[in-house]
Amino acid sequence: MRRLVLSDVHANASALTAALAACRGLWDRAVCLGDLVGYGPDPNEVIDQVRPLVAAIIRGNHDKAVSGMADLEEFNPVARSAVEWPRAQLRAENLQSLAELPAGPIHADGLTLVHGAFQDEDEYVFVPEQAIEGLLMTPGTLTFFGHTHMQGGFVFRDSELDTIAIRPPRDGALFSALPIETGARYLLNPGSIGQPRDGDARAAFAIVDSNESLVEFWRVPYDIAAVQERLRRARLPETLAARLASGH
Ligand code: ZN
Repeated sequence: MRRLVLSDVHANASALTAALAACRGLWDRAVCLGDLVGYGPDPNEVIDQVRPLVAAIIRGNHDKAVSGMADLEEFNPVARSAVEWPRAQLRAENLQSLAELPAGPIHADGLTLVHGAFQDEDEYVFVPEQAIEGLLMTPGTLTFFGHTHMQGGFVFRDSELDTIAIRPPRDGALFSALPIETGARYLLNPGSIGQPRDGDARAAFAIVDSNESLVEFWRVPYDIAAVQERLRRARLPETLAARLASGH
């Protein structure tokens, strides 16, 4: 079985459409790690596309904030405007479906899904010290997390924790493959579809191939200028448009 893992789509319909087109017919089931909305100009379109597509989904901090399930105290002014704007745009049924997204961790088809850390959905996992607790607590081989918008992750084997750096695919390739070793435990981030922050502006996602025991880390180019144009038309902060182009 091949499972598509999406995260942090952040209301970017152009990135989502390009990513799905690139891997069409190459996966059996899809899951999503949350943050459908926030930052981007297409909150309704993204919810409309993702909800029927995925077999399992959890909420992210932006989904909570936009649907009124969390207060905005922890959000900086740019993130806050990116919360208030979609709240005003969303159709009632989409606001409702955001509010009903379950918190992680959940277990789906042998994968564990969390938005932030295993032990706290709102916590960031950037470095091994932040990954170890979750890796020791998680029950399965493969746990997927989002929230940092950085493709890569961590592996725990023989009592040692290592960082996994994903080499961006080059020369026309769309993904790099990571072999999964038996006996090891992985905490992996597919990267962000809608607002990558790891220096590569292309839309990021992962496909888990359980037959081949590997995870493919994909990067797909999309029309960034079109999204920037929609951001400007919506009068959302210019920093959001700049961020899409830089991938930081
Ligand atoms: Zn996010």
